[in-house]
Amino acid sequence: MNRLVLVLNANFEPINVCNTRRAIGMILADRASLVINGRGIIHSIYRDYPRPSVIRLDQMISRPRPRLLLNRREIFRRDNYTCQYCGKHSMILTIDHVIPKHRGGAHIWTNVVAACSSCNHHKGGKAVEEVGMRLMRQPKEPPITAMYLFGHHLQENQEWQEFLSGW
Ligand SMILES: [Zn+2]
Repeated sequence: MNRLVLVLNANFEPINVCNTRRAIGMILADRASLVINGRGIIHSIYRDYPRPSVIRLDQMISRPRPRLLLNRREIFRRDNYTCQYCGKHSMILTIDHVIPKHRGGAHIWTNVVAACSSCNHHKGGKAVEEVGMRLMRQPKEPPITAMYLFGHHLQENQEWQEFLSGW
């Protein structure tokens, strides 16, 4: 019951994930319809239910486009857990301000990158050029696509692929 279910808006835009129990509750309450099951059957005393993988809301809901929080987790995720100076892949990273804060560098997407501790130490509060370092790529605000928001669930839910692409 804890497997995740992808929730689509009435126009098929992916908007959320929820657990199986909640998804079935929404179907039973006539608020959503099954789009894909393929996970077998849930047996209850009264009847059997197909186990949903993707559901779609019957009524379109409007919601503001999600914004990404500028936090460590999202910065590391954007940078693929890779130090943006030496390219080392690591789960233990620091946040580096490309233009250092004490030089007026802002805490914004275009001025923060993931850095391993030795690169961060080497840079030591200076600007990139001063220490002869180079960024692997210019940091940007990540595009908030459905793939970015929900793509990390694809490994366990490959059937979601076609619903995520294009949004
Ligand atoms: Zn590094």
